[in-house]
Amino acid sequence: MAKVIILSGAGISAESGISTFRDTNGLWENYNIEDICSFDSLEKNEDLTLQFYDQRRIELKDKVPNHAHKTIAKLKKIYSNDIAVITQNVDDLFEKAGIPSKDIIHLHGFSTEVECKSCKEVFDIGYKKIHDFNNGICPKCNNKLRPNIIFFGESAPKYDLLNYHLYDCELLVVIGTSGDVIDVNSLAKKVQQSILNNLEPNDRINETNFSKVIYDKATIAIDEIKQIIEDYFFKRTTAKIWDTQINTSTPYATLQTAKNIIQEADAILITAGAGMGVDSGLPDFRGNEGLWKAYPPLKKAGYAFTQVESGYLFSKNPKLAWGFYGHRLNLYRETKPHYGFQLLHDLVKLKNNNYFIFTSNVDNHFQKAGFDKNKIYEVHGSIEYLQCINNCNNKVFKNHLKDMSIDMETLHVKDVPYCKECNKVTVPNILLFGGTTFNEVRVKEQNKRFLQWLSDVKDLKVVILEIGAGKTVPTIRNFNDSYSKRHENFKLIRINPLESEVLNIDDIGIRGKGLDTINKII
Ligand SMILES: [Zn+2]
Ligand SMILES: [Zn+2]
Repeated sequence: MAKVIILSGAGISAESGISTFRDTNGLWENYNIEDICSFDSLEKNEDLTLQFYDQRRIELKDKVPNHAHKTIAKLKKIYSNDIAVITQNVDDLFEKAGIPSKDIIHLHGFSTEVECKSCKEVFDIGYKKIHDFNNGICPKCNNKLRPNIIFFGESAPKYDLLNYHLYDCELLVVIGTSGDVIDVNSLAKKVQQSILNNLEPNDRINETNFSKVIYDKATIAIDEIKQIIEDYFFKRTTAKIWDTQINTSTPYATLQTAKNIIQEADAILITAGAGMGVDSGLPDFRGNEGLWKAYPPLKKAGYAFTQVESGYLFSKNPKLAWGFYGHRLNLYRETKPHYGFQLLHDLVKLKNNNYFIFTSNVDNHFQKAGFDKNKIYEVHGSIEYLQCINNCNNKVFKNHLKDMSIDMETLHVKDVPYCKECNKVTVPNILLFGGTTFNEVRVKEQNKRFLQWLSDVKDLKVVILEIGAGKTVPTIRNFNDSYSKRHENFKLIRINPLESEVLNIDDIGIRGKGLDTINKII
């Protein structure tokens, strides 16, 4: 797994003169692009389709990598396995810039390769026409060859590698992609730090998801991107040293300062991650070991954290997936929010209820503790809402499932809920790793109210209380760091037993557990 992912699309190769489908207005020699790039094109228009890719291959021969390709090649050489170079492009410009082919993940295939339709063997034929390589016939099994390109409607197995690297990724760099094929918004939400570089804004990409946005040519932006990547690796090395030296008890003066900031604040932004639930007795798995300890059947079945919290498990093994989520649903419903919720509720009353809650928890506990549901933004969704795995009807609905009956031996649920409209499995309306389309309708409404509130309090003194928000899925931390940095009147108080360090000099980090610390500073 890599710490840094560089994901590129057509924009990075445009300056090397590689044309995209978009440039051709969706037409090629008066044929619709769909006719020659779809899953059935080889059956319906074989000659035309092969001819199209022959031409793409021949065109590549004289194309040369640009400054962006070359810079990424250099970085890859230095940081090797800590950087994953992933591209939607089928051209060979990264290879020409010096990255070995095996070290590049081509999500959508590779132009100079052909694949046997039968035995699936792949051959690199360079810039040749497909018929000039063994008459377009597989040398191994004598069946027909095809371009090694993923056509529209075909499955793209390399996406698993993207998800794999994403799990451990701390810095995501997106260069030159329209966000049409890959939802880069949801990728950015899963990492601590993210950079977007495109020529110009577009409707599908929400720049607030990114910590840095550069609208410029890739060959120009790449120098700044290189700097950020190098800074990241430097800080990572120093942070490790710092972490082992950190003092575990928070000085009295720090607690007192935090107390004063809270007293003087006009409004409160409460932000929370999994650590907030720990004092109520809810699990914070912190990776595979914790998950397996809590759910031995998952260990037995060999499922890692990313696989359990993914849509794939729902499509592959809905009984097990709902066993896991059903158990969590029961647990969240049975558990009473801890006393810290009450303290926070009392606090916001003192501020004339001028507050908002921003949480990555899906447990519904802020609502349960009596906070106004119109003042809560659940960025990763809620287990109390459901949707179809395919989002076939674009609906989000209240979760009326009652006491799910689960066999704890196998972690299988008795009854799996299915979508009435398409018969596929119904899933929680939660942001999962890969495999489902997260219906954002409800979360977007909450987000709208949140943004409105932020704008309402823009001239007030606001304290951001961050409780138990970790680095694994760092949505909350990222927002807090960058927001308090950009707004002088916003002060962040970060409460975390393990990762309490803050990035801005004016912010306060308290190494401690949620309830205990809340009790001390409110
Ligand atoms: Zn073959
Ligand atoms: Zn459906």
